[in-house]
Amino acid sequence: MKKTLYLKFLIAYLIFGFFGFIVVATFVSNMTRNMLTQNKAESLYTEATLIADTYATDLYNSKTSLDIVKREIDMLDVYLSSTIWIISPSGSIILDSSVPVDIENPVTVEGFDPAAIAGNYYTVGKYFNSFDEEVLSVTAPIIINYKVQGYVVIHSTMKSIEDFTNQLLNISYIMLVILFLLSLIILIFFTNLVYRPLRKITKATEEYASGNLHYQFQVDSGDEIGYLAASLSYMASELARGEDDQKKLVANVSHDFRSPLTSIKGYSEAMLDGTIPPELYEKYLTIVRDESDRLIKLTNSLLTLNNLNTDGMILDKSDFDINEIIHKTVATFEGSCRQKRISLKLVLTGDKLFVHADMTKIQQVLYNLLDNAIKFSHKDSDIKIETVEKHNKVFVSVKDSGIGIPKESIRQIWDRFYKTDLSRGKDKKGTGLGLSITREIIRSHGENINVISTEGEGSEFIFSLPISDIDENDEENT
Ligand code: ADP
Repeated sequence: MKKTLYLKFLIAYLIFGFFGFIVVATFVSNMTRNMLTQNKAESLYTEATLIADTYATDLYNSKTSLDIVKREIDMLDVYLSSTIWIISPSGSIILDSSVPVDIENPVTVEGFDPAAIAGNYYTVGKYFNSFDEEVLSVTAPIIINYKVQGYVVIHSTMKSIEDFTNQLLNISYIMLVILFLLSLIILIFFTNLVYRPLRKITKATEEYASGNLHYQFQVDSGDEIGYLAASLSYMASELARGEDDQKKLVANVSHDFRSPLTSIKGYSEAMLDGTIPPELYEKYLTIVRDESDRLIKLTNSLLTLNNLNTDGMILDKSDFDINEIIHKTVATFEGSCRQKRISLKLVLTGDKLFVHADMTKIQQVLYNLLDNAIKFSHKDSDIKIETVEKHNKVFVSVKDSGIGIPKESIRQIWDRFYKTDLSRGKDKKGTGLGLSITREIIRSHGENINVISTEGEGSEFIFSLPISDIDENDEENT
Protein backbone atom coordinates (compact mmCIF):
# COMPACT_ATOMS: atom_id res chain seq x y z
CA MET A 1 0.00 0.00 0.00
CA LYS A 2 2.83 2.36 0.96
CA LYS A 3 4.75 1.98 -2.29
CA THR A 4 1.63 2.28 -4.39
CA LEU A 5 0.65 5.62 -2.91
CA TYR A 6 4.08 7.05 -3.60
CA LEU A 7 4.07 5.56 -7.09
CA LYS A 8 0.62 6.99 -7.78
CA PHE A 9 1.78 10.40 -6.77
CA LEU A 10 4.87 10.08 -9.00
CA ILE A 11 2.75 8.94 -11.94
CA ALA A 12 0.37 11.89 -11.41
CA TYR A 13 3.41 14.15 -11.34
CA LEU A 14 4.77 12.72 -14.61
CA ILE A 15 1.34 12.95 -16.25
CA PHE A 16 1.22 16.58 -15.20
CA GLY A 17 4.64 17.15 -16.84
CA PHE A 18 3.65 15.26 -20.01
CA PHE A 19 0.40 17.19 -20.49
CA GLY A 20 2.22 20.44 -19.77
CA PHE A 21 4.57 19.59 -22.64
CA ILE A 22 1.69 18.68 -24.99
CA VAL A 23 -0.10 21.95 -24.21
CA VAL A 24 3.00 24.01 -24.94
CA ALA A 25 3.82 22.04 -28.11
CA THR A 26 0.31 22.32 -29.58
CA PHE A 27 -1.91 25.08 -28.21
CA VAL A 28 0.83 27.53 -27.25
CA SER A 29 2.73 26.92 -30.49
CA ASN A 30 -0.37 27.47 -32.68
CA MET A 31 -1.54 30.47 -30.74
CA THR A 32 1.90 32.11 -30.96
CA ARG A 33 2.18 31.46 -34.70
CA ASN A 34 -1.29 32.86 -35.39
CA MET A 35 -0.68 35.91 -33.26
CA LEU A 36 2.67 36.68 -34.91
CA THR A 37 1.22 36.15 -38.41
CA GLN A 38 -1.66 38.49 -37.68
CA ASN A 39 0.64 41.17 -36.26
CA LYS A 40 2.94 40.99 -39.27
CA ALA A 41 -0.05 41.04 -41.64
CA GLU A 42 -1.43 44.13 -39.94
CA SER A 43 1.81 46.05 -40.27
CA LEU A 44 2.27 44.94 -43.91
CA TYR A 45 -1.32 45.89 -44.70
CA THR A 46 -0.63 49.42 -43.47
CA GLU A 47 2.32 49.57 -45.84
CA ALA A 48 0.30 48.09 -48.70
CA THR A 49 -2.54 50.63 -48.31
CA LEU A 50 0.03 53.39 -48.14
CA ILE A 51 1.60 52.21 -51.42
CA ALA A 52 -1.86 51.81 -52.98
CA ASP A 53 -2.88 55.33 -51.99
CA THR A 54 0.37 56.98 -53.09
CA TYR A 55 2.71 55.39 -55.65
CA ALA A 56 0.19 53.07 -57.22
CA THR A 57 -2.51 55.77 -57.58
CA ASP A 58 0.07 58.17 -59.01
CA LEU A 59 1.14 55.45 -61.46
CA TYR A 60 -2.43 54.83 -62.60
CA ASN A 61 -3.09 58.57 -62.91
CA SER A 62 0.18 58.78 -64.91
CA LYS A 63 1.56 61.30 -62.45
CA THR A 64 4.69 59.22 -61.93
CA SER A 65 6.65 57.02 -64.27
CA LEU A 66 6.93 53.26 -63.87
CA ASP A 67 10.69 53.54 -63.24
CA ILE A 68 10.30 55.97 -60.33
CA VAL A 69 7.62 53.83 -58.73
CA LYS A 70 9.80 50.75 -59.29
CA ARG A 71 12.73 52.45 -57.50
CA GLU A 72 10.57 53.46 -54.55
CA ILE A 73 9.08 50.00 -54.30
CA ASP A 74 12.52 48.39 -54.45
CA MET A 75 13.60 50.48 -51.50
CA LEU A 76 10.52 49.43 -49.57
CA ASP A 77 11.26 45.80 -50.54
CA VAL A 78 14.66 46.06 -48.83
CA TYR A 79 13.20 47.89 -45.84
CA LEU A 80 10.35 45.39 -45.34
CA SER A 81 12.33 42.30 -46.51
CA SER A 82 9.30 41.48 -48.64
CA THR A 83 8.35 41.23 -52.30
CA ILE A 84 5.94 43.93 -53.45
CA TRP A 85 3.66 43.53 -56.45
CA ILE A 86 1.30 45.86 -58.21
CA ILE A 87 -1.13 43.75 -60.20
CA SER A 88 -4.08 44.52 -62.39
CA PRO A 89 -7.57 43.14 -61.56
CA SER A 90 -6.99 40.52 -64.26
CA GLY A 91 -3.85 39.26 -62.51
CA SER A 92 -1.10 40.64 -64.72
CA ILE A 93 1.87 41.87 -62.71
CA ILE A 94 2.54 45.51 -63.54
CA LEU A 95 5.40 45.87 -61.09
CA ASP A 96 7.43 43.27 -59.17
CA SER A 97 10.04 44.50 -56.70
CA SER A 98 12.00 41.24 -57.02
CA VAL A 99 12.60 41.42 -60.79
CA PRO A 100 13.48 44.26 -63.22
CA VAL A 101 10.68 45.84 -65.25
CA ASP A 102 10.04 43.96 -68.47
CA ILE A 103 7.12 45.49 -70.36
CA GLU A 104 7.58 43.15 -73.32
CA ASN A 105 7.02 39.99 -71.32
CA PRO A 106 4.34 40.74 -68.77
CA VAL A 107 3.85 38.02 -66.16
CA THR A 108 0.37 37.01 -65.20
CA VAL A 109 -0.69 35.27 -62.00
CA GLU A 110 -2.42 32.15 -63.23
CA GLY A 111 -5.88 31.77 -61.80
CA PHE A 112 -5.79 35.10 -59.97
CA ASP A 113 -9.22 35.66 -58.57
CA PRO A 114 -9.81 38.82 -56.55
CA ALA A 115 -13.03 37.29 -55.21
CA ALA A 116 -10.99 34.49 -53.58
CA ILE A 117 -9.11 36.96 -51.42
CA ALA A 118 -11.99 39.36 -50.87
CA GLY A 119 -12.82 39.77 -47.20
CA ASN A 120 -9.38 38.58 -46.09
CA TYR A 121 -6.73 41.20 -46.15
CA TYR A 122 -4.09 38.50 -45.75
CA THR A 123 -3.57 34.88 -46.77
CA VAL A 124 -0.98 32.28 -45.93
CA GLY A 125 -0.07 29.95 -48.78
CA LYS A 126 1.58 29.84 -52.19
CA TYR A 127 -0.53 32.71 -53.56
CA PHE A 128 -2.17 31.08 -56.59
CA ASN A 129 0.90 28.81 -56.94
CA SER A 130 3.20 31.74 -57.57
CA PHE A 131 5.70 30.60 -54.90
CA ASP A 132 7.36 27.31 -54.02
CA GLU A 133 7.14 27.85 -50.27
CA GLU A 134 4.49 29.28 -47.97
CA VAL A 135 4.30 33.07 -47.87
CA LEU A 136 2.21 35.62 -46.05
CA SER A 137 0.50 37.77 -48.67
CA VAL A 138 -1.28 41.02 -47.89
CA THR A 139 -3.53 42.56 -50.54
CA ALA A 140 -4.68 46.19 -50.60
CA PRO A 141 -6.89 47.44 -53.45
CA ILE A 142 -5.95 50.51 -55.51
CA ILE A 143 -9.18 52.49 -55.69
CA ILE A 144 -9.51 55.40 -58.05
CA ASN A 145 -12.87 57.05 -58.63
CA TYR A 146 -14.57 54.40 -56.52
CA LYS A 147 -13.27 51.69 -58.82
CA VAL A 148 -10.72 49.02 -58.12
CA GLN A 149 -7.94 49.62 -60.62
CA GLY A 150 -5.53 47.03 -59.29
CA TYR A 151 -3.95 45.64 -56.16
CA VAL A 152 -0.82 46.15 -54.12
CA VAL A 153 0.31 42.77 -52.81
CA ILE A 154 3.13 42.37 -50.30
CA HIS A 155 4.58 38.87 -49.87
CA SER A 156 6.66 38.06 -46.83
CA THR A 157 8.25 34.67 -46.27
CA MET A 158 6.82 32.66 -43.36
CA LYS A 159 10.33 31.62 -42.30
CA SER A 160 10.90 34.70 -40.14
CA ILE A 161 7.57 34.10 -38.36
CA GLU A 162 8.43 30.42 -37.89
CA ASP A 163 11.84 31.34 -36.47
CA PHE A 164 10.32 33.82 -34.06
CA THR A 165 7.63 31.32 -33.04
CA ASN A 166 10.32 28.72 -32.31
CA GLN A 167 12.29 31.17 -30.21
CA LEU A 168 9.20 31.96 -28.14
CA LEU A 169 8.43 28.25 -27.86
CA ASN A 170 11.92 27.56 -26.61
CA ILE A 171 11.36 30.11 -23.85
CA SER A 172 8.07 28.36 -23.00
CA TYR A 173 9.82 24.98 -22.85
CA ILE A 174 12.51 26.35 -20.55
CA MET A 175 9.82 27.86 -18.31
CA LEU A 176 7.98 24.53 -18.32
CA VAL A 177 11.10 22.66 -17.22
CA ILE A 178 11.76 25.23 -14.48
CA LEU A 179 8.12 24.92 -13.29
CA PHE A 180 8.38 21.14 -13.39
CA LEU A 181 11.53 21.24 -11.26
CA LEU A 182 9.95 23.75 -8.90
CA SER A 183 6.93 21.53 -8.48
CA LEU A 184 9.35 18.91 -7.13
CA ILE A 185 8.96 20.92 -3.94
CA ILE A 186 5.39 19.57 -3.77
CA LEU A 187 6.83 16.06 -3.96
CA ILE A 188 9.19 16.85 -1.08
CA PHE A 189 6.29 18.29 0.94
CA PHE A 190 4.16 15.27 0.14
CA THR A 191 6.94 12.95 1.28
CA ASN A 192 7.52 14.76 4.55
CA LEU A 193 3.98 15.79 5.41
CA VAL A 194 1.94 12.86 4.15
CA TYR A 195 3.98 9.87 3.08
CA ARG A 196 6.35 9.51 6.06
CA PRO A 197 3.68 10.11 8.75
CA LEU A 198 1.39 7.68 6.91
CA ARG A 199 4.13 5.05 6.94
CA LYS A 200 4.55 5.54 10.68
CA ILE A 201 0.80 5.24 11.20
CA THR A 202 0.60 2.13 9.05
CA LYS A 203 3.49 0.56 10.95
CA ALA A 204 1.77 1.41 14.23
CA THR A 205 -1.55 -0.13 13.11
CA GLU A 206 0.31 -3.27 12.08
CA GLU A 207 1.92 -3.42 15.53
CA TYR A 208 -1.43 -2.85 17.26
CA ALA A 209 -3.12 -5.46 15.07
CA SER A 210 -0.45 -7.98 16.02
CA GLY A 211 -1.22 -7.32 19.68
CA ASN A 212 1.62 -4.97 20.61
CA LEU A 213 -0.62 -2.27 22.09
CA HIS A 214 2.28 -0.66 23.94
CA TYR A 215 4.00 0.31 20.65
CA GLN A 216 4.92 3.99 20.77
CA PHE A 217 5.23 6.31 17.77
CA GLN A 218 5.47 10.01 17.24
CA VAL A 219 4.14 12.22 14.43
CA ASP A 220 5.03 15.84 15.10
CA SER A 221 2.44 17.75 13.16
CA GLY A 222 -0.59 19.76 14.10
CA ASP A 223 -2.63 18.94 10.98
CA GLU A 224 -5.21 16.22 10.35
CA ILE A 225 -2.51 13.53 9.99
CA GLY A 226 -0.98 14.53 13.32
CA TYR A 227 -4.46 14.41 14.85
CA LEU A 228 -5.07 10.97 13.34
CA ALA A 229 -1.75 9.70 14.74
CA ALA A 230 -2.49 11.15 18.17
CA SER A 231 -6.00 9.62 18.16
CA LEU A 232 -4.62 6.25 17.10
CA SER A 233 -1.96 6.37 19.78
CA TYR A 234 -4.59 7.37 22.35
CA MET A 235 -6.89 4.57 21.21
CA ALA A 236 -4.06 2.04 21.57
CA SER A 237 -3.13 3.30 25.03
CA GLU A 238 -6.79 3.07 26.09
CA LEU A 239 -7.02 -0.45 24.68
CA ALA A 240 -3.77 -1.35 26.45
CA ARG A 241 -5.14 0.10 29.68
CA GLY A 242 -8.36 -1.87 29.20
CA GLU A 243 -6.32 -5.01 28.61
CA ASP A 244 -4.21 -4.33 31.71
CA ASP A 245 -7.37 -3.70 33.74
CA GLN A 246 -8.81 -6.93 32.45
CA LYS A 247 -5.69 -8.85 33.48
CA LYS A 248 -5.71 -7.15 36.88
CA LEU A 249 -9.38 -8.00 37.31
CA VAL A 250 -8.83 -11.68 36.47
CA ALA A 251 -5.82 -11.79 38.84
CA ASN A 252 -7.85 -10.13 41.61
CA VAL A 253 -10.89 -12.33 41.07
CA SER A 254 -8.74 -15.48 41.11
CA HIS A 255 -6.94 -14.34 44.22
CA ASP A 256 -10.14 -13.37 46.06
CA PHE A 257 -11.79 -16.66 45.16
CA ARG A 258 -8.78 -18.76 45.99
CA SER A 259 -8.27 -17.71 49.62
CA PRO A 260 -11.79 -18.53 50.91
CA LEU A 261 -11.84 -21.71 48.82
CA THR A 262 -8.46 -22.76 50.29
CA SER A 263 -9.67 -22.29 53.85
CA ILE A 264 -13.02 -24.05 53.14
CA LYS A 265 -11.11 -26.96 51.59
CA GLY A 266 -8.50 -26.99 54.37
CA TYR A 267 -11.00 -26.97 57.25
CA SER A 268 -13.35 -29.53 55.72
CA GLU A 269 -10.43 -31.90 55.00
CA ALA A 270 -9.11 -31.40 58.54
CA MET A 271 -12.56 -32.24 59.92
CA LEU A 272 -12.85 -35.31 57.71
CA ASP A 273 -9.43 -36.74 58.55
CA GLY A 274 -9.89 -36.02 62.26
CA THR A 275 -7.23 -33.33 62.61
CA ILE A 276 -9.98 -31.08 64.00
CA PRO A 277 -11.79 -32.81 66.89
CA PRO A 278 -15.64 -32.78 66.82
CA GLU A 279 -15.84 -30.40 69.80
CA LEU A 280 -14.19 -27.68 67.61
CA TYR A 281 -16.48 -28.35 64.60
CA GLU A 282 -18.79 -25.44 65.43
CA LYS A 283 -15.94 -22.94 65.42
CA TYR A 284 -14.54 -24.14 62.10
CA LEU A 285 -17.92 -24.65 60.44
CA THR A 286 -18.68 -21.02 61.31
CA ILE A 287 -15.51 -20.02 59.47
CA VAL A 288 -16.51 -22.23 56.52
CA ARG A 289 -19.99 -20.58 56.48
CA ASP A 290 -18.49 -17.09 56.66
CA GLU A 291 -16.09 -17.86 53.85
CA SER A 292 -18.96 -19.27 51.73
CA ASP A 293 -20.92 -16.04 52.45
CA ARG A 294 -17.95 -14.07 51.26
CA LEU A 295 -17.82 -16.08 48.02
CA ILE A 296 -21.55 -15.51 47.45
CA LYS A 297 -21.15 -11.80 48.10
CA LEU A 298 -18.17 -11.65 45.76
CA THR A 299 -20.04 -13.45 42.98
CA ASN A 300 -23.10 -11.21 43.40
CA SER A 301 -20.99 -8.06 43.33
CA LEU A 302 -19.17 -9.21 40.22
CA LEU A 303 -22.46 -9.96 38.49
CA THR A 304 -23.86 -6.56 39.48
CA LEU A 305 -20.76 -4.77 38.21
CA ASN A 306 -20.82 -6.71 34.96
CA ASN A 307 -24.49 -5.92 34.38
CA LEU A 308 -23.92 -2.27 35.15
CA ASN A 309 -21.22 -2.12 32.50
CA THR A 310 -22.76 -4.24 29.77
CA ASP A 311 -26.28 -2.80 29.90
CA GLY A 312 -24.89 0.71 29.87
CA MET A 313 -26.90 0.83 33.12
CA ILE A 314 -30.61 0.79 32.39
CA LEU A 315 -32.19 2.96 35.05
CA ASP A 316 -35.75 2.56 36.24
CA LYS A 317 -36.25 6.12 37.39
CA SER A 318 -39.15 7.29 39.54
CA ASP A 319 -39.94 10.06 42.05
CA PHE A 320 -39.44 8.80 45.59
CA ASP A 321 -38.81 10.14 49.06
CA ILE A 322 -35.10 9.76 49.78
CA ASN A 323 -35.68 10.33 53.52
CA GLU A 324 -37.93 7.28 53.62
CA ILE A 325 -35.34 5.14 51.79
CA ILE A 326 -32.68 6.29 54.27
CA HIS A 327 -34.93 5.25 57.18
CA LYS A 328 -35.54 1.84 55.59
CA THR A 329 -31.84 1.20 54.88
CA VAL A 330 -30.78 2.33 58.34
CA ALA A 331 -33.28 -0.15 59.83
CA THR A 332 -31.47 -3.07 58.17
CA PHE A 333 -28.28 -2.16 60.04
CA GLU A 334 -29.82 -1.96 63.50
CA GLY A 335 -28.36 -5.34 64.49
CA SER A 336 -24.78 -4.64 63.48
CA CYS A 337 -24.95 -1.13 65.01
CA ARG A 338 -26.17 -2.54 68.31
CA GLN A 339 -23.25 -5.00 68.35
CA LYS A 340 -20.72 -2.18 68.00
CA ARG A 341 -22.82 0.25 70.04
CA ILE A 342 -22.84 2.67 67.12
CA SER A 343 -25.59 5.25 67.00
CA LEU A 344 -26.92 6.38 63.62
CA LYS A 345 -27.94 10.04 63.63
CA LEU A 346 -30.27 11.22 60.86
CA VAL A 347 -30.28 14.92 59.98
CA LEU A 348 -32.83 14.97 57.18
CA THR A 349 -34.17 18.00 55.34
CA GLY A 350 -37.98 18.29 55.40
CA ASP A 351 -40.47 15.66 56.27
CA LYS A 352 -40.27 14.21 52.79
CA LEU A 353 -37.65 14.97 50.18
CA PHE A 354 -38.44 13.80 46.68
CA VAL A 355 -35.74 12.86 44.21
CA HIS A 356 -35.93 11.51 40.66
CA ALA A 357 -33.75 8.40 40.40
CA ASP A 358 -33.64 4.60 40.30
CA MET A 359 -34.84 3.74 43.81
CA THR A 360 -33.40 0.21 44.06
CA LYS A 361 -29.98 1.31 42.88
CA ILE A 362 -29.88 4.33 45.21
CA GLN A 363 -30.85 2.03 48.06
CA GLN A 364 -27.87 -0.13 47.14
CA VAL A 365 -25.61 2.95 47.22
CA LEU A 366 -26.86 3.82 50.70
CA TYR A 367 -26.41 0.22 51.77
CA ASN A 368 -22.78 0.12 50.53
CA LEU A 369 -21.88 3.45 52.17
CA LEU A 370 -23.52 2.56 55.49
CA ASP A 371 -22.00 -0.92 55.46
CA ASN A 372 -18.52 0.64 55.03
CA ALA A 373 -19.18 3.36 57.62
CA ILE A 374 -20.19 0.78 60.24
CA LYS A 375 -17.40 -1.60 59.24
CA PHE A 376 -14.70 1.05 59.62
CA SER A 377 -16.15 2.82 62.67
CA HIS A 378 -14.84 2.33 66.16
CA LYS A 379 -17.12 0.95 68.87
CA ASP A 380 -19.27 3.52 70.72
CA SER A 381 -19.13 6.05 67.90
CA ASP A 382 -21.65 8.03 65.85
CA ILE A 383 -22.53 7.90 62.18
CA LYS A 384 -24.36 10.88 60.75
CA ILE A 385 -26.61 10.65 57.68
CA GLU A 386 -27.66 13.99 56.31
CA THR A 387 -29.77 15.25 53.40
CA VAL A 388 -29.42 18.82 52.12
CA GLU A 389 -31.28 20.52 49.29
CA LYS A 390 -29.15 22.92 47.25
CA HIS A 391 -29.20 24.24 43.66
CA ASN A 392 -32.06 21.97 42.60
CA LYS A 393 -30.19 18.93 43.86
CA VAL A 394 -30.30 16.77 46.95
CA PHE A 395 -26.98 16.03 48.62
CA VAL A 396 -26.80 12.91 50.76
CA SER A 397 -23.90 12.53 53.17
CA VAL A 398 -22.79 9.52 55.21
CA LYS A 399 -20.22 10.57 57.79
CA ASP A 400 -18.37 8.35 60.26
CA SER A 401 -15.62 8.99 62.78
CA GLY A 402 -13.82 5.72 62.08
CA ILE A 403 -10.35 4.76 60.87
CA GLY A 404 -10.39 7.13 57.88
CA ILE A 405 -8.60 6.62 54.59
CA PRO A 406 -4.87 7.30 54.09
CA LYS A 407 -4.24 10.21 51.73
CA GLU A 408 -2.38 8.06 49.20
CA SER A 409 -5.33 5.64 48.93
CA ILE A 410 -8.11 8.18 48.45
CA ARG A 411 -7.97 8.06 44.65
CA GLN A 412 -7.81 4.27 44.50
CA ILE A 413 -10.74 3.37 46.77
CA TRP A 414 -13.06 3.62 43.72
CA ASP A 415 -11.04 1.00 41.80
CA ARG A 416 -12.31 -2.53 41.60
CA PHE A 417 -10.91 -4.82 44.32
CA TYR A 418 -9.06 -2.01 45.99
CA LYS A 419 -8.80 -2.15 49.79
CA THR A 420 -6.59 0.06 51.89
CA ASP A 421 -3.90 -1.63 53.96
CA LEU A 422 -5.70 -0.40 57.06
CA SER A 423 -8.88 -2.24 56.10
CA ARG A 424 -7.16 -5.44 54.99
CA GLY A 425 -6.49 -6.39 58.61
CA LYS A 426 -9.88 -5.35 59.93
CA ASP A 427 -12.25 -6.24 57.12
CA LYS A 428 -11.91 -9.84 56.07
CA LYS A 429 -15.32 -9.96 54.41
CA GLY A 430 -14.89 -6.93 52.15
CA THR A 431 -14.55 -7.48 48.41
CA GLY A 432 -13.23 -4.10 47.35
CA LEU A 433 -16.07 -3.86 44.83
CA GLY A 434 -18.66 -1.88 46.84
CA LEU A 435 -17.40 1.62 46.05
CA SER A 436 -16.82 0.96 42.36
CA ILE A 437 -20.45 -0.24 42.08
CA THR A 438 -21.56 2.82 44.04
CA ARG A 439 -19.70 5.21 41.76
CA GLU A 440 -21.01 3.51 38.59
CA ILE A 441 -24.59 3.93 39.84
CA ILE A 442 -24.19 7.60 40.74
CA ARG A 443 -22.39 8.41 37.49
CA SER A 444 -25.07 6.70 35.43
CA HIS A 445 -27.53 9.16 36.99
CA GLY A 446 -25.29 11.95 35.69
CA GLU A 447 -24.42 12.86 39.28
CA ASN A 448 -21.26 12.87 41.41
CA ILE A 449 -19.92 11.19 44.49
CA ASN A 450 -17.00 12.49 46.58
CA VAL A 451 -15.15 11.58 49.72
CA ILE A 452 -13.54 13.70 52.39
CA SER A 453 -11.44 11.66 54.75
CA THR A 454 -8.61 11.99 57.26
CA GLU A 455 -6.73 8.96 58.45
CA GLY A 456 -7.59 8.27 62.10
CA GLU A 457 -10.44 10.79 62.18
CA GLY A 458 -13.13 9.48 59.89
CA SER A 459 -14.65 9.73 56.42
CA GLU A 460 -17.56 11.48 54.80
CA PHE A 461 -19.08 10.29 51.51
CA ILE A 462 -21.35 12.81 49.75
CA PHE A 463 -23.35 12.16 46.63
CA SER A 464 -25.87 14.24 44.70
CA LEU A 465 -29.26 13.32 43.22
CA PRO A 466 -31.62 15.24 40.95
CA ILE A 467 -34.51 16.74 42.84
CA SER A 468 -37.97 15.66 41.72
CA ASP A 469 -40.37 18.05 39.93
CA ILE A 470 -43.21 17.13 42.23
CA ASP A 471 -43.17 18.64 45.70
CA GLU A 472 -44.21 17.28 49.06
CA ASN A 473 -47.76 18.74 48.91
CA ASP A 474 -48.45 17.29 45.45
CA GLU A 475 -47.54 13.89 46.78
CA GLU A 476 -49.83 14.24 49.79
CA ASN A 477 -52.81 15.31 47.62
CA THR A 478 -52.45 12.33 45.30
P1 ADP B 1 -15.16 -3.26 50.54
O1 ADP B 1 -16.26 -4.17 50.12
O2 ADP B 1 -13.87 -3.99 50.75
O3 ADP B 1 -15.54 -2.37 51.63
P2 ADP B 1 -15.30 -0.90 48.94
O4 ADP B 1 -15.10 -0.73 47.50
O5 ADP B 1 -16.62 -0.58 49.50
O6 ADP B 1 -14.85 -2.38 49.27
O7 ADP B 1 -14.21 -0.03 49.69
C1 ADP B 1 -12.89 -0.02 49.24
C2 ADP B 1 -11.95 0.36 50.36
O8 ADP B 1 -12.14 1.74 50.67
C3 ADP B 1 -12.22 -0.38 51.64
O9 ADP B 1 -11.58 -1.63 51.65
C4 ADP B 1 -11.60 0.56 52.63
O10 ADP B 1 -10.22 0.40 52.69
C5 ADP B 1 -11.90 1.92 52.07
N1 ADP B 1 -13.12 2.51 52.67
C6 ADP B 1 -14.35 2.56 52.13
N2 ADP B 1 -15.20 3.21 52.97
C7 ADP B 1 -14.50 3.56 54.06
C8 ADP B 1 -14.80 4.26 55.29
N3 ADP B 1 -16.05 4.69 55.53
N4 ADP B 1 -13.81 4.44 56.16
C9 ADP B 1 -12.57 4.00 55.90
N5 ADP B 1 -12.19 3.34 54.77
C10 ADP B 1 -13.15 3.12 53.86
